[in-house]
Parts: sequence; structure tokens; C-alpha cells
Amino acid sequence: MSLVAGIDLGGTAINYTFLDQQEKFLIEELCEHPARSKEGPEICLGQIAEGLVIAAHRAGISTSDIAVVGLDTPGPASATGVLSARGSTNFVHADWAGFDIRAGLETKLGKPVTYLNDGNAGALWGHFNIFGGHSQATSISAIIGTGLGGGVITGGHVVKGRSGFGGELGHVLLPYQSIAGIAGIQPICNCGRTGDLESLCSLTAIGKTLLPYFLPKFPDHEYHGMEIAQAAKLVRGMAERGDPLAREIFRVQAHALGVFFDEMINTFDPDALIVGGGAIETGKGFQAWFIQEIRNGMPQQRAEQVGIPIYIMPNGDTAGARGAAIEALEMLRARS
Ligand SMILES: [Zn+2]
Repeated sequence: MSLVAGIDLGGTAINYTFLDQQEKFLIEELCEHPARSKEGPEICLGQIAEGLVIAAHRAGISTSDIAVVGLDTPGPASATGVLSARGSTNFVHADWAGFDIRAGLETKLGKPVTYLNDGNAGALWGHFNIFGGHSQATSISAIIGTGLGGGVITGGHVVKGRSGFGGELGHVLLPYQSIAGIAGIQPICNCGRTGDLESLCSLTAIGKTLLPYFLPKFPDHEYHGMEIAQAAKLVRGMAERGDPLAREIFRVQAHALGVFFDEMINTFDPDALIVGGGAIETGKGFQAWFIQEIRNGMPQQRAEQVGIPIYIMPNGDTAGARGAAIEALEMLRARS
């Protein structure tokens, strides 16, 4: 038997999955192991290898069946998995600076390893879930979490770009002034830009920009007197229950996505638009409302473009590992 593994290295946990050549995932649920990235590459890579053995046992396979391993991590990193020399939130230990995590894991495991950043891995899973592993389709995925990740898949392949920043959708600028009901807002992103997608459409944006903007307009709201960071985390649940302030925040996020997707429609004429992440891990009713608001936020479309499908990405918490496995399967197929 010859199959591939997908390994998603997150901030605190490593998530594993396996995919066979019939495109069937051998682990359905979350399969986690502690990450230990803070302790540097040596310990972290050992931890990844140890967790892989445990996960293989759980899936009822032998590690010798694993032909290729797909790895995904948070960025910034090069297209081939060399972590930024400036360090990053998830790789604070000094030894990570400029470390080639793909090659490091390849040496550790003695198997070929492919690399994607976590946004691109999620986008590849969203694409595969709709089109399967043999498609020539194009899709754009936006994943709303703490930040805004995602990716562009054209002809079935991830657009990684020259230096690994392909599909860095959160930092694409929007004509946000065209969104109704936010006159005078100053959406500043952590990257320094004003008015990019992440600056309006992320958990960070809720705490930093949208709640402070809308709260004074709702003087009796229960969020007054609450810490902003705490209130920000409650917004999704309250929006789902119909709270007017929380709905207004999600409407603005949906309209920002609508403006962004409109830019992508006219750039790629894609087969599908896909939305994922914690923000829409909600009931079906709220998801349907959110998708309709995305459409409401789009400028008028040409007749040929109006019917573009917008999907919700399923299995959000396993998306990274699944996408990493799909990339590994592509390598396995190319080799055989
Ligand atoms: Zn930005």
C-alpha cells in the first residue's frame, strides 16, 4: 500500500491525516499531538515524527506505507518552506530564523516532504472538496480566522508565487469606502495597510476596528463595560442569535468579502468562491445569510458572472492537514 500523510503544524498543536490513492481520507476527525514549536526546530521536528507514528497506529497503517509527507505551517515562509529570517509569531525560537523546515522534516523522516503555508493548504482542501484531485478548475478561498488567510488555485494547482506570498489575500487592498454604513472608519491592518481585506474581515478586525466603530452607535449594548478582546470573541455567537450590533459587524465583513470576490471574479473568472474559517463555523441558517450578504456586497455583475457559486469550506479545523495531504498526493502521482 502506498499513501500520503498530511501534517499541519499549528501554534500549539500538530494535526495529522492520511490520504490514499483513491482520494479517501483515513482519519475523519481531528488527530492532534502537542506542537512544542517554542522549543526550536530540533525538538519540534522530533515531536512531529513521534506524533506521526501515533497517528499511523490510530489509522491502522504502517509508517512504511507512507510514500510522501505533506507539511503545512503558518508563514511567513518561502514557497519551498524556508521560514522567514525575521522570525514570526509561531516560530519565536532563534533557531527557526531562516530554517528550511521542509528539508529538515525530510531528513528527520527519510521520506520526501512537500510544503505549503497554512492558508494555501486550506484553500487546496476547499478546492479538492468540490472538484476532486484531477480538476483543471480555478477557485479562490478566503479563510476568516484571527487574520484572513486563503489561496488561489488555478488549473488545480496552488499559486505560491515567486517568494511564497502568492494567495496572501488578507493584504489585498479594497475600495472599502464603497461599503455602506461605515463612513469615517479607519481600518488599519497589522501589515500597515489601511483598508485591506484582513483589516475588515478577521477576528482581529472585530476587536481593533469594527467593535470600537459600532459600539457607540448602540449605547445600551451589553458589550459596554466588557473588555474589547473578550467582546470580540462573543460577536459570532451573538450575530447568530440575531443581535443587531453583531449582525452589523458581520454584514460589513461579508460586504468586504463581496468587494474582494468581485476583484477576483474580474481577475480570474473562477469556477468557485469558497469561504472558510472560524467566523462561519455556525449553523446553516447563519451561513446562508452570510453568503447572501457577500452577494449583496458585490457590485453589479455581468449576466455571465452572476451565477458564480459561493461555497462554505467544511471540516475547518482539519483543513490544513487535508490540504497538505492533497499536495503530497500530487507529488506521489507525478512520481509514479
Ligand atoms: Zn494587511
